Amino acid sequence: MLGPVLLTAARSDRLRRLVSAAPVTRPVVDRFVAGETLPDALAAVRALAADGIEVTLDHLGEDITSAAQATATRDAYLRLLEALAAERLGPRAEVSVKLSAFGQALPTGGEELALEGARRVAEAARAAGTTVTLDMEDHTTVDSTLGVLAELRREYPETGAVLQSYLFRTEDDARALATGGSRVRLVKGAYKEPASVAHQDKAEVDRAYVRCLKILMAGGGYPMIGSHDPRLITIAQELAVRHGRKPGDYEFQMLYGIRVDEQHRLAESGHRVRAYIPYGGDWYGYFMRRLAERPANLTFFLRSFV
Ligand SMILES: Cc1cc2nc3c(=O)[nH]c(=O)nc-3n(C[C@H](O)[C@H](O)[C@H](O)COP(=O)(O)OP(=O)(O)OC[C@H]3O[C@@H](n4cnc5c(N)ncnc54)[C@H](O)[C@@H]3O)c2cc1C
Repeated sequence: MLGPVLLTAARSDRLRRLVSAAPVTRPVVDRFVAGETLPDALAAVRALAADGIEVTLDHLGEDITSAAQATATRDAYLRLLEALAAERLGPRAEVSVKLSAFGQALPTGGEELALEGARRVAEAARAAGTTVTLDMEDHTTVDSTLGVLAELRREYPETGAVLQSYLFRTEDDARALATGGSRVRLVKGAYKEPASVAHQDKAEVDRAYVRCLKILMAGGGYPMIGSHDPRLITIAQELAVRHGRKPGDYEFQMLYGIRVDEQHRLAESGHRVRAYIPYGGDWYGYFMRRLAERPANLTFFLRSFV
């Protein structure tokens, strides 16, 4: 019951101001967010790289409301990629972008603006020896995001996609994207979606995940298993063997600060593992989605709040 309430709260500006300003929030947020600044993010990249874990970096922000904010997001990514290139971290660190932070939802020309911004980031990523993955947001944005992906892939075929197994449409999208060279991160999905478009039952979401994973593992692309779920991780390993994929023909991805021991265990046993590192000041929406996923996180948060 709490999950949907928290996911609604994740979009409330009033709560955003309240929670973001509360000093006690910080230590809880630090568990999920690498810090507010670029040096904080780079320190996290170096620490994980030393343990054989690759990363994808997310400069926090979403649902922006002006073209100036879209430009600021793009510039933050360009500075990040410049820093990764300077430290030669490109081969270990890619970037994840949310198109809503690039202006996708702006009423006039939003999608074109987001495409332009993402194209500049893809160009800088290639120069740094790395790649971009387009995060997937709520269901109203899926067609637009896949459209931007298709445009970007004309010039930058290495651009990664994200598919969410809770959406009814995703098996079809998985089939369309399971082609040679196509990098696809499969996740369960983190937004509050209506029953008209998405499975509501967790077991259904898991079953759909396995169906989509089978399609991606059987196809010619590069599956990225974005989940902490032990059962799905085991199934992914079995499917990889069945389809003759070796470690390096697919990868596991987990969020910064979640199931860290498992991230290390997989990396130590020879798997390719990538941690998703969020950083920046606009952590509220990301943080609330992590609370919604696990009631124990909320208890921890409320205890420190009280
Ligand atoms: C690398 C990566 C990128 C992602 N990108 C997107 C995206 O672009 N779009 C999108 O909609 N969603 C994205 N997600 C989030 C995803 O959709 C899920 O909401 C999230 O991963 C939880 O689902 P799960 O597969 O881990 O399974 P769950 O069944 O939720 O969790 C399985 C187990 O993992 C642990 N766990 C899971 N979440 C937490 C948490 N918050 N705190 C502590 N423990 C936890 C618990 O031990 C839990 O029992 C991403 C997830 C990952 C890992």
